[in-house]
Amino acid sequence: RPAVVWFRDDLRVADNPALDAAVRSGRPVVCVYLWDDVSPGLRPPGAAARWWLHHSLVALDAELRARGSRLLVRRGAAESELKALIAELDAAALFWNRRYGGAERAIDAAVKSAAREAGLDAGSFGANLLFEPWTIRTGAGTAFSVFSPFWRACLSAPAPRMPLPTPGGFPTAGLPDGLRIDDLGLLPTRPDWAGGLRDAWEPGERSAHTDLARFVRDDLARYRDDRDIPGVDATSRLSPRLRWGELSPHQVWHAASAAREHDPGVADSAAVFLSELGWREFAYHTLFAHPDAATVNIHRQYDAFPWPRLHPGALHAWQRGRTGIPLVDAGMRELSTTGTMHNRVRMVTASFLTKNLLIDWRLGEQWFWDTLVDADPASNPFNWQWVAGSGADAAPYFRVFNPELQRTKFDPHGDYVRRWVPEWDGLDYPEPVVDLAETRRAALAAYDTVRAST
Ligand code: FAD
Repeated sequence: RPAVVWFRDDLRVADNPALDAAVRSGRPVVCVYLWDDVSPGLRPPGAAARWWLHHSLVALDAELRARGSRLLVRRGAAESELKALIAELDAAALFWNRRYGGAERAIDAAVKSAAREAGLDAGSFGANLLFEPWTIRTGAGTAFSVFSPFWRACLSAPAPRMPLPTPGGFPTAGLPDGLRIDDLGLLPTRPDWAGGLRDAWEPGERSAHTDLARFVRDDLARYRDDRDIPGVDATSRLSPRLRWGELSPHQVWHAASAAREHDPGVADSAAVFLSELGWREFAYHTLFAHPDAATVNIHRQYDAFPWPRLHPGALHAWQRGRTGIPLVDAGMRELSTTGTMHNRVRMVTASFLTKNLLIDWRLGEQWFWDTLVDADPASNPFNWQWVAGSGADAAPYFRVFNPELQRTKFDPHGDYVRRWVPEWDGLDYPEPVVDLAETRRAALAAYDTVRAST
């Protein structure tokens, strides 16, 4: 009787504890992916994320085929689909790696108890975080709300385990009917807008490892100094790999730590890089404590914020990179073309939307959700709330980035802006949609309402 491995945000064969447990059980292994667009509360991936998911599933299937297996793809509500699959296969075991969103946890808990009632060996594993949320707690037993003590607590907890060995071939069972990955309809068709994504990325576990090795070898040493300069490719670009689980954070952690041991010269840079992985952990721990963080202010006093009536033209100009503010437009165009944006520019564009255009952070979060290949259920809401001032350890609301000063500081020669806004210094470039100083004052006045309500 086979063991079923249910793949979700862990599209890899290496360092995959659920797959490892199934292989070690000695049973035939069935690997399944369920496209669940039915269960209530699940947030459907946005368009760019669906593009990534399609290709990552294709790559996972190829890795499994190289091991004598393949990926069974089904569609429907997870609970009922799994029940049916277990009956069809007469499976004896069901394994998966944990997810941390509210709706996901509820589904997984229901699946686990139903499987155990049916006499299956059902097991879930920690695979996609370095530290499980319930293991990192304040002295009072609550979740941390400030990053620095959170990260100190992580660093003094038991170190993240070593990555598991990559499985070779393993026995598989005869598979029942499934769908082709194409049948899920994850790719854009009319129009096919994904050309820029194809040029920028190669999804899949194999290229993820190539990217990780290249980053550690070539760029880690200068990460600390150059990571804030959008015109220089000095960051790892590993975020979609981690989002979709093509790499585990343990693999990334140990690759950077090993480089630090070999070359003390990269120690400072490696520590900064690892603390960025720490922000990812912090975002997930925050989601665990605040499951509705994508829609609800973490600091509820921000519910009183008087977002003005939406001026759709301003939102549209921001989305299309036509605001007349060069760094903002460069970032938004990079996003639409490649499905990513440099972190510094994400902060600037988000600040501009919420504090100069006075548009509710949820609308910006939704746009990023739809356009980022790394659109992440924890990191995206977390960072939007951080910029807006309503989130965990947030930037204080009155810290309004000036996008022109940010440009002269971080893109002094205009390398980044010119790459994305070639018409910048010409006559075709639009006038700014708002006056930066005036809108800053309006934002601060609106913020007084929040202060007055506390
Ligand atoms: P590196 O600088 O190489 O960092 C290494 C890894 O650390 C990243 O791959 C990522 O997994 C993690 N990381 C770095 N910074 C952060 C951060 N601030 N928060 C959480 N994790 C971090 N990141 C996402 O993965 N998905 C999102 O949907 C997302 N939305 C964002 C929205 C806004 C408004 C802002 C300001 C930031 C957002 N980020 C998001 C965080 C960050 O911008 C990206 O993780 C980073 O730009 C990815 O590039 P990199 O892999 O080269 O990062």
